[in-house]
Amino acid sequence: MNLLLNKKYTRRNFLGLGLLGTLFLTGRFSLTPSGKFLTARLEEEFEHQTTIAKLHPTPEKWSYNEVTVAWLGHASFLINFFGTKILIDPALGSRIGITPIGNQTIGLRRYISAALNSGEVGPVDLLLLSHAHTDHFDYPTLRQLQSPNTIAVTAQNTTSLWQGMKFQSIEEMHWGDSKSLAGVNVKAIEGKHWGARLPWYKGMEANTLLLSKSSL
Ligand SMILES: [Zn+2]
Repeated sequence: MNLLLNKKYTRRNFLGLGLLGTLFLTGRFSLTPSGKFLTARLEEEFEHQTTIAKLHPTPEKWSYNEVTVAWLGHASFLINFFGTKILIDPALGSRIGITPIGNQTIGLRRYISAALNSGEVGPVDLLLLSHAHTDHFDYPTLRQLQSPNTIAVTAQNTTSLWQGMKFQSIEEMHWGDSKSLAGVNVKAIEGKHWGARLPWYKGMEANTLLLSKSSL
C-alpha cells in the first residue's frame, strides 16, 4: 500500500475553530476586550496564506493490481482499490465551512492546499461520505464531482442533502447494511461520532465503511 501523508493540526482544533468562526461571521458571537486573543486567532484561521501541497499524487499511474491510497488533505482520501477508483469525504476547495449561497464557502482557509483538485481527481467509481459535517460533506467539491458513472454512499437520513446533484445513484446506508457497489462490497458500521450537519437535524448518522472485494 502506498500512503502519502501531511498534517497541520488536530481534527478537534479544526472543528472547534470552524464552529467559532461560523458564529463570529454570522454575528452570533460578540467579543469582549478579553477576547482579543480569540479575534487574532480567528483572523489567522480565516485569512492566513495557503501553501501548495508538497506532494502531488499521480493516480493515472497507479497500478490496478494493488491498493494505493493518497491523503488529499483533512479527511479526504483517494484510493485505487484493485481497479476501483474510490474517493472518501472530499473537501478539496480553498476553504471549508458553510455554503449558504451557491458554491461560495464561508469558513476556515486551508493551511495547505488539497493535494489534488476536483478536476485532477476526475470522475470516480465510488464516492463515500462518512457523515454530513461540512468538513466531510463539502457541497462545492461534490457538485464539481457529479458524474453519471459515480455511485455515492451516504449515511442514514442524509439523502436529502444531495438534492439537485446528479450521480448514478445515492446509496443511503444504515449501520449493519451491506451493498455491492461498483464491484466493491461496502459494509456500514456504526461510526462513534455525532453525524448531524446542523444540531437541529435529527437522525443523521455517521458511518465507518468496511470495503472488500470478493474476487481477491
Ligand atoms: Zn464530523
